[in-house]
Amino acid sequence: MAERRPGPPVSPPDSSRAAPVSRPLVDAPPPPRAEAPVAARAPLSRPSAPSSAGMLLDVPRSSPGGTTALPGSVDSERPTLDQVRRELGDCQRCKLCSGRKNIVFGTGNPRAELVFVGEGPGENEDLQGVPFVGAAGDLLTKMIEAMGFRRDDIYICNVVKCRPPGNRNPEPDEIAACEPFLRAQLAAIQPKVVVALGKFAAQTLLRDSTPITRMRGAWRVYEGIQLMPTFHPAYLLRNPAEKRKAWEDLQAVMKIFGKNPGSRA
Ligand code: URA
Repeated sequence: MAERRPGPPVSPPDSSRAAPVSRPLVDAPPPPRAEAPVAARAPLSRPSAPSSAGMLLDVPRSSPGGTTALPGSVDSERPTLDQVRRELGDCQRCKLCSGRKNIVFGTGNPRAELVFVGEGPGENEDLQGVPFVGAAGDLLTKMIEAMGFRRDDIYICNVVKCRPPGNRNPEPDEIAACEPFLRAQLAAIQPKVVVALGKFAAQTLLRDSTPITRMRGAWRVYEGIQLMPTFHPAYLLRNPAEKRKAWEDLQAVMKIFGKNPGSRA
């Protein structure tokens, strides 16, 4: 329902997790963290989208011996989002369950061609049970609309589904517990493109500890799905000068969908 906007998003309001912004978009690498844990792999088969700029780097499609069934899948079939959510249940798999008000599973179009993956819920998200509804969420919404999409068109979820206390970084054991559900969500949706917002999303999905500052802007492949790592909106709120780079990253994503900045697709 949001109106489409041709250009880069305008400075969003401040975030609880960040600061004001200017013209171009996106997120940053929150404080350092350990690399991605190991978890179940989605035996996906989806044709990869075209590389827009010949910048695709391939990623191993499966971990050694990685045929573990995804949460929610029956008979090794691709699960549905509902099945994944049911399997998650009233999750007690990690210590984050003790402080949460709500599990923030994800929101949007279950058949989305574009999925944004963030880090984990903050206070507002925890209260509402919906991802990206705080200040960083306002910026993300502007980014999505500037790309010519509405929030309802796409799907948004996080690496961890429960709020880390005090908005600290998710810890490796927490990511390890939650990661299979993220992978199962992506297997269920099978989008054309995933945008990994920030280091936790990018490093976890790609199993690559390269800093987001180096990973961003270059196409990768996750389970046959084109993946664009970029900055997290909260980082962009704190570092508005980086929005320009994030906007470049999102413009590369727009190309995949045949959208041009300024077009009214
Ligand atoms: N930051 C995230 O990474 N996810 C949210 O849902 C909100 C803020």
